Amino acid sequence: MKAVVCYSGGHSSALVAIEAVYKYGKENVILLNHDISPEVEHEDVKRFKCAVAEYLGIEITYANYEEWEHITPLKVSIKRGGFRMTHGASHCTYYLKTEPFLKWLKENYPATFENPCEDIVILYGFDKNEPMRIQRRSQSLGVQGYKTEFPLAYWTRTIYDTKEIGIKKPTTYRLWKHANCQGCLKAGRQHWYCAYCLRPDIWAEAKETERLIGYSIIKGVFLEDLEQQFHEMKHSKNICPSEKGSSAIFWTNVNKVLPEQQSLMPCDCSF
Ligand code: SF4
Repeated sequence: MKAVVCYSGGHSSALVAIEAVYKYGKENVILLNHDISPEVEHEDVKRFKCAVAEYLGIEITYANYEEWEHITPLKVSIKRGGFRMTHGASHCTYYLKTEPFLKWLKENYPATFENPCEDIVILYGFDKNEPMRIQRRSQSLGVQGYKTEFPLAYWTRTIYDTKEIGIKKPTTYRLWKHANCQGCLKAGRQHWYCAYCLRPDIWAEAKETERLIGYSIIKGVFLEDLEQQFHEMKHSKNICPSEKGSSAIFWTNVNKVLPEQQSLMPCDCSF
């Protein structure tokens, strides 16, 4: 039995990798990563995933989109003519991560519902606060013939922070919530305010991509229409670009210092 860790480069998946080695032994653990273009995956995320793999004595197994070094989520969207697929999933997630993952599984550990794979178990970094994600992932892989485990939710833990083994989290966690792409196409206004302040190159490319595709990244508003407000938040009000803390508190604080502006709270209407 091999334990395949979905090794994203984030802190949670690193903890899963460590727990997996503790439980299964390093010779039975595969660290499966999808490398993402350095234009959007921060160099310190790349440092972190290599440092943890080196500590464990396991080489990372890469399952990458063929042109991964140059194809960013925005470029994938242009190539596909939209941000989202018909069932709502993002083109970037599917082409940069999901499809290479399924291809790797099919080539190395083929399975079907009728003939499940008994050789591997697939491990994710979801914790006990994410029951819906756990349910969705275990069901979707279960019907394809794969077993899943969620060590951070269900195992007795031996480690809670990689600093316990002398490895610092990626520096991106100081300002961003996840070790995801900067300029994430599934993120909301707070993330894009950070992109506006910290990654003006991605902001400009994202605005141009919205123009080319004709759809907005954030539901209901184009980045161009947020630019004046973001300019004021940054230059007049010195609002720190950060994804830390709750979005509701962030926007409540923004609205306190920009009372004359239309509310910047994300719209909660549903149609
Ligand atoms: S992290 Fe965001 S931008 Fe990157 S692939 Fe996933 S959804 Fe797309």
